[in-house]
Amino acid sequence: MKNFLIIIMSLCVILPACYAETVVYNVKTHKYHKPGCTWAIKCTVNCIKLEKKEAVSRGGVPCKVCGG
Ligand SMILES: [Zn+2]
Repeated sequence: MKNFLIIIMSLCVILPACYAETVVYNVKTHKYHKPGCTWAIKCTVNCIKLEKKEAVSRGGVPCKVCGG
């Protein structure tokens, strides 16, 4: 049982899903991107960084290129 807990904790270090995911959200088009997305890098005026769930709650839709 102890080993099981260690495995779960190790997975949390590897998997980004265990963290609050930060995305780049375009306040004008309401699309959100992964921080490494070409469009996120190009978007300098209308984009803000926030948590993915926050972007979704603001009516954000995932980018078709990076999948949000
Ligand atoms: Zn994108």
